[in-house]
Amino acid sequence: MIDIKKMVRPNILAMKAYSSARHDYHGKEGIFLDANENPFGSLNRYPDPFQFSLKEQLSKLKKVDVQKIALGNGSDELIDLCIRIFCEPGEGKVLIFPPTYGMYEVVAALNNVALVKVPLDDVFSVDMDSLIPRFDDDSIKLIFICSPNNPTGNIQNLVDVQYILEKFNGIVLIDEAYTDFSKTASLIPLIEKYNNLIILQTFSKAWGMAGARLGVAYANPEIISLINKVKAPYNISTLNLDAGLNALKNVNTYEVNKTSILQEKRKVIKALQKNPLVKKVHPSETNFLLVEFEHSNFVFQSLINNQIITRNRSAEVQNCIRIS
Ligand code: PMP
Repeated sequence: MIDIKKMVRPNILAMKAYSSARHDYHGKEGIFLDANENPFGSLNRYPDPFQFSLKEQLSKLKKVDVQKIALGNGSDELIDLCIRIFCEPGEGKVLIFPPTYGMYEVVAALNNVALVKVPLDDVFSVDMDSLIPRFDDDSIKLIFICSPNNPTGNIQNLVDVQYILEKFNGIVLIDEAYTDFSKTASLIPLIEKYNNLIILQTFSKAWGMAGARLGVAYANPEIISLINKVKAPYNISTLNLDAGLNALKNVNTYEVNKTSILQEKRKVIKALQKNPLVKKVHPSETNFLLVEFEHSNFVFQSLINNQIITRNRSAEVQNCIRIS
């Protein structure tokens, strides 16, 4: 168990959260003269700042208490909030395992937070021998583990993840944006054991709702209330909340679509493996493939010329293109 309060930026701990008009009354019915809204129109009311209805459904689906769930405007917002809660600009640092999701670096830079990079090894696993000495650096407040990892597609070893959770005196954020496509179970149950663990998931991938901007953080109530304290009060619009609720009512559609995506993925893998331009299709526990070509820039450009837009990752992984 780590002392979360000691990890939090002092100004965040000391500040008072904005108390929205709806903090004083939780009923649905009433004469609402508190928030300077307009009596006319269908979206005239502010959304629920606690997003209770959606959290309640997520709580049932994931078997996690409502107090252990926070919602963000996409998981990108949650990445930013976590950095802002735990890393003092110009002092705190974030550790990442490149090649990985680009936003960790962008959001760290935005917050004037330095990045410590511990590159993944040649099979894209965490290089524990390089990582462990970093545990002595007290300025590292957050470790981001993307699992399954974008753009490499693989899962990190559970033994290594648990070792990090136990030995690192800071917050560990596991980004599970692609977990639904994986054979390996989500690590959400570990939030009961480790109070320094934050799991991020999203509606953008397997739920097919990237346009709605809904990200979810699962963690102990102390971290969740910090996220709620620093988030904008109405960070999830009524439209997005309703979209999320609708999606959760149709778990069957989610399952059917996911199965279809995974079937198509197998076909694409086979076709790519037969293609003479392809050197390697990396194993993937996601809805994308990292594919190595002889001349990736040429392939990438030829695809663009045919209005087929893939992601050129050759700067991070030599000669590789990521294909959704
Ligand atoms: N994490 C990872 C690993 C991602 O690949 C992405 C989006 N590509 C995100 C988070 C952001 O997801 P969201 O749409 O929920 O902001």
